[in-house]
Amino acid sequence: MRIPEQPPLSLYVHIPWCLRKCPYCDFNSHEKRGELPEAEYVDALTADLEASLAKVWGRRIHTIFIGGGTPSLFAPAAIERLITAVRTRLPVDPEAEITLEANPGTFEVERFRGFRAAGVNRLSIGVQSFDDAKLGALGRVHGGDEARRAVACALEIFPGVNVDLMYGLPQQTLEEALGDMREAIAHGPQHISAYHLTLEPDTHFHRFPPALPGEDAAADMQEGIEGLLGAAGYGHYETSAFARPGHRARHNLNYWTFGDYLGLGAGAHGKISFRDRILREVRERKPQSYLRAALAGDAVQESREVAEAELPFEFMLNALRLIDGFPVSLFTQRTGMSLAAVEPQLRAAEAAGLLARDHSTIRPTDKGRRFLNDLLEEFLAERPRAAGRVINIASPGTSRPS
Ligand code: SF4
Repeated sequence: MRIPEQPPLSLYVHIPWCLRKCPYCDFNSHEKRGELPEAEYVDALTADLEASLAKVWGRRIHTIFIGGGTPSLFAPAAIERLITAVRTRLPVDPEAEITLEANPGTFEVERFRGFRAAGVNRLSIGVQSFDDAKLGALGRVHGGDEARRAVACALEIFPGVNVDLMYGLPQQTLEEALGDMREAIAHGPQHISAYHLTLEPDTHFHRFPPALPGEDAAADMQEGIEGLLGAAGYGHYETSAFARPGHRARHNLNYWTFGDYLGLGAGAHGKISFRDRILREVRERKPQSYLRAALAGDAVQESREVAEAELPFEFMLNALRLIDGFPVSLFTQRTGMSLAAVEPQLRAAEAAGLLARDHSTIRPTDKGRRFLNDLLEEFLAERPRAAGRVINIASPGTSRPS
């Protein structure tokens, strides 16, 4: 393997606590009990960063994403100490996008101002719905009015705001789903993410499924939502992501273009490219185990080189989420492989009407977007297949409903 040049490097920081565990959530998030060990956790993140420096030596950080969990549970002073710890140990691009995820249930004007002063320039707010009944059904800790106040206040304080909404909620009608989206658009955030609620294994909803709209109803909601966002000037650029011109999420775009990211924090994933290999690592998942391991300078629980045979699938898993696809040359830049290595799969996907390409670009067709798992399966063909393997199309660390 020979990677021609290292891709841009992002930093993901995971903060694993929430006020309450939502019944649909399969993230590494844990209900807060008592005081959070904020200072100790920032110490652990700093020790984890120190221990990781050799892997990213000399490289510049282009974006930082502080996700969770609910990072807005941390005091602005803790977030400031974290960002300063990063800036003093690694070169951070002066124009770096620095995103923090916030739950409206933690909303306070002074807290938001504090995050901005700490260097956060983009707030991603997990609204999910503005409808109190729907929020109750989702087990959210906030109501519609708190969500409205949080979004309005964030827009005054931060140059970039993302609003996460979900559709296909328990007993939701098409009109209710569109009503939520109209309200989000009326606030005028720079970025909106619209996620279809799915029942993930190992969640309360999976064990006790609520009555959800059927596939056709959810498809109508998706179509209606895309129509509203398009008419309001939000460009659809990734499966669930919509942005005003100039406001695409640079951090997530780095995942989707198979860039590198260092992942710090409990359960965080990382991907680092070297000239001759690509490394994937996962940190200790349980907060207490992570604290102990990171402070001892050894937070990485799992580290493995990605086999060359896995690279086409890994690349496509990310890049084919992009509505406009990717430049042909990106495949070789990121994987070190010739595109000829996947020519049979590209042809098969084209023949099935799932993929389109010209001399410069490869992109999913409308059908390919609708049946993304079928399209991705084409690129699994050369891998040793695990029986019954399920493709999870979420990229690790990618922004998602929180
Ligand atoms: S959905 Fe978000 S707020 Fe709810 S438990 Fe998961 S990470 Fe926490």
